[in-house]
Amino acid sequence: MAVEEKAGRGARAKLRAHFLANIGRIMDAAELRAVAGNQSEWARRVRELRSAEGYLILTHNDRSELKPGQYLLESPKPQPAFERAISKEARAYVLDRNGFTCQMCGAVAGENHPHDTTRKTRLHLGHIIDKSLGGTDDPSNLRAICSVCNEGASNTTLTRPDLQKLLVQIRRATTQDQLEVLAWLLKKFPKHAQNPSGRPI
Ligand SMILES: [Zn+2]
Repeated sequence: MAVEEKAGRGARAKLRAHFLANIGRIMDAAELRAVAGNQSEWARRVRELRSAEGYLILTHNDRSELKPGQYLLESPKPQPAFERAISKEARAYVLDRNGFTCQMCGAVAGENHPHDTTRKTRLHLGHIIDKSLGGTDDPSNLRAICSVCNEGASNTTLTRPDLQKLLVQIRRATTQDQLEVLAWLLKKFPKHAQNPSGRPI
C-alpha cells in the first residue's frame, strides 16, 4: 500500500470514529480538518465515508439549517450496500412512485416526522419482499421507507390502517384536521380533484 493511501485510510478511520462519537452534533470544517491530522484531503475522506461506507453525513445540500462547511451525522447506522448500489434513476423512480411518502408510517420527505417532530423525514429504499425470502433489488421490489421506520423506532405503527378504522378516525377528527386531509388528497390526486362527475378515472 502506498504511503499516501495508508495516510488516507488512517484519516478516514479517525473521521469515522469522530463522527460516531458525535452523533447529532453539527461540526465545522476546522474541527474535521484537525481530526484528520490536517490532511489536505480531509473533505474527500468525509465524502468517502458517505459514498463508500454509506454513512449519512449531512451537509448544507441536505439540510437548509446547515451552513456551507458544516457536517452532521444523525444515525450511526450506515445505509445498506444495496441502496448505495442502486442507480440514481431507479431510486428517483421508486420515490416518485411512492409519492415521496414512507410506505410504513406515511411520513413525507422533507417534512417534520410525525413520530419524532425534531427530525426532518428522510427516505430510504427498503425491500417489499425481504431478501432472505427471495426478494430482489429490482425497483419493483423496492419501496420508500423513512429513517425512523428504517431504524425500527416506530414498530408499533407499521401496519397499514384498514379502511373502516381510517374513516372512523377521519370522521372523529377536528374540522381543521379534516380540511388538511382534504387538501393533502387534492394535492395527491389532482386529476381526480378536477373530475366533476366524481367517478374514479
Ligand atoms: Zn416511516
